Amino acid sequence: MFVYADNAATTAVSKTAIEAMLPYLTESYGNPSSLYSFGQDAKEALEAARQTIADILGADAAKEIYFTSGGSEADNQAIVSMAKLGSLKGKKHLISTKFEHHAVLHTLKALEKQGYEVTLLDVHEDGVVRIEDLEAAIRPDTALVTVMFANNEIGTIQPVKEIGEVCHRNGIPFHCDAVQAVGHIPLNVKELGIDLLSLSGHKFHAPKGVGVLYARKGLPLFNIIEGGAQERGKRAGTENIPGIVAMAAALKESVENMEANTARIIPMRDRLFAELSKIPHSKINGSLEHHVPGTVNMCFEGIEGESLLLLLDAKGVCASSGSACTSGSLDPSHVLLSIGLPHEVAHGSLRLSIGEYNTMEDIDHIIKVVPEVVAYLRSISPVWEDLENGKRPHLI
Ligand SMILES: *Cc1c(COP(=O)(O)O)cnc(C)c1O
Repeated sequence: MFVYADNAATTAVSKTAIEAMLPYLTESYGNPSSLYSFGQDAKEALEAARQTIADILGADAAKEIYFTSGGSEADNQAIVSMAKLGSLKGKKHLISTKFEHHAVLHTLKALEKQGYEVTLLDVHEDGVVRIEDLEAAIRPDTALVTVMFANNEIGTIQPVKEIGEVCHRNGIPFHCDAVQAVGHIPLNVKELGIDLLSLSGHKFHAPKGVGVLYARKGLPLFNIIEGGAQERGKRAGTENIPGIVAMAAALKESVENMEANTARIIPMRDRLFAELSKIPHSKINGSLEHHVPGTVNMCFEGIEGESLLLLLDAKGVCASSGSACTSGSLDPSHVLLSIGLPHEVAHGSLRLSIGEYNTMEDIDHIIKVVPEVVAYLRSISPVWEDLENGKRPHLI
């Protein structure tokens, strides 16, 4: 049996997306910047995709949509642009949270080295940032607030509308990394007061390597890739027409089917939570109250996430863990630490992310093999032995 339960990492490309992109890989391969009509077909497809995405996001105009190579590039450009804009006015303070994606955190780190000051808000145990903490962090020289919509490891949704209100009251642009939200939960940039938003196609069944930066009219972007005049001079490079067309088609499909998909996913997710919570000394990470449909994150005491993933792989289950080797370091996930988990507990984490292509049979398989693998790993773990014979206290 093969079960793909890592949809927060990437998703399968949908048939709709493949069919939409195919003509632009075969007969309609023109360059949209060329003057002959063959290139104009590509140009029309590009602008139609831009309009589709603008409409879905609730943007005022298609020109507020800039195509990028994905979520990471959109995050980089949004943050660097607002930092530069701020510094022109003497504002060099940036606010974010401790559990952002590395595309945000590492961009902020780089800016810190260039003389910016960064405040990272704490995330509470429920996996949600507090508005009071944001209000307290705001300074007269704050140039940007960047807070993600939904966390990629634990799936918790942030109070985006309230954050937008606070930012606007203080005249600060608000960027939102909405990569885990777009296509999965309803979202409208105007209603939520989002000034800049990042999204990525491969998290909602488009191919990898294509994304969007939405930037509200009047917010000047600085380009991070220099060259030609594509994307109104803000992002050089011949446009990825097949990817862009596929992304618009996949987004339209995801949004049209959102209610039905959610209704399919929630019972699968709830069954996972219910069954895996029966494992002794386990813990669900992040509140289930404000949560994207498909993401399940749990910790199992006394085991290593990596060993769990390898054994699950041997049983046909693709899952992920925010800890150690995956990030190339020995530290556990910065997300799990940010919500207050002790290192020892955070090491034993498992993220299962379910999508609409999963079935109840997939869930049956997962809830059969995870308890077996956890029990096996505990049986060979010296840490678990110490926990069981009272030499160390159980933390969960
Ligand atoms: C996947 C992801 C990104 C990065 O998107 P890419 O298109 O892979 O560069 C950024 N932020 C979040 C929250 C993500 O889940």
